[in-house]
Amino acid sequence: MNRNDNNKARGKLIVLSGPSGVGKSTICREVIRRVEGLELSVSLTTRPPGPGEQDGRDYWFVSEAEFRERMEQGLLLEHAEVFGNLYGTPKDKVDEALDAGKNVILEIDVQGGRQVKTVYPDAVMIFILPPNDKALAERIGRRGRDAEEVAETRLNGASNEIAAAWQHYDNMVINEDLEHAVKEVVQIVRGVPQGPDASDGSDGHIGDA
Ligand code: ADP
Ligand code: 5GP
Repeated sequence: MNRNDNNKARGKLIVLSGPSGVGKSTICREVIRRVEGLELSVSLTTRPPGPGEQDGRDYWFVSEAEFRERMEQGLLLEHAEVFGNLYGTPKDKVDEALDAGKNVILEIDVQGGRQVKTVYPDAVMIFILPPNDKALAERIGRRGRDAEEVAETRLNGASNEIAAAWQHYDNMVINEDLEHAVKEVVQIVRGVPQGPDASDGSDGHIGDA
């Protein structure tokens, strides 16, 4: 196990990805509420805020110039262009939290997930799947953030994202019933083995419900 200078166990890095509109933010919010000592990394983005989104809570909304400056200074753990906008994870905040023994969840795309896995091979990789295309289209629409063409681009991007995920993600969770999906992610985060042969063991807990 990795330890920091104070010989305290370093936290775990958890990557949660999935196509736009599949329910990542909704799941993340609930998982963080249920698992003690789990922090959400707030990403930088050059896209404008959507309805109800707040700077510093949902994203750090920055200009392209500011984003590129941080990137060139090596301040981002990973970065990617998604649907024409730049997204990235601030490195210092993640390292600080991991050093303090906290577990950190990154809600990022597959390109970013792949970069993180290279730097942190122990990262726990979770991919959220929609039950079907129709449900995904409805959820993208329900979110009410995108113009019709943008919503369509997001939907078209989903199959590429899903195809790429099978190579890099070892935990696939279908978000049909929200409560069921949240429970599954909570168990993965806590290190409970998944799959048909897995017992409902309680080893490896990292927090209480
Ligand atoms: P993402 O972060 O992946 O883009 P969101 O969390 O914003 O997706 O969810 C998109 C929409 O789908 C929201 O309106 C959310 O309430 C809804 N949603 C999430 N999970 C489910 C589910 N299991 N069943 C039905 N609607 C869902
Ligand atoms: P949205 O615009 O719907 O919030 O996000 C679009 C996509 O960008 C989603 O797949 C989301 O996971 C991804 N994303 C959000 N933040 C980051 C980040 O910091 N890095 C990367 N690589 N992707 C991100």
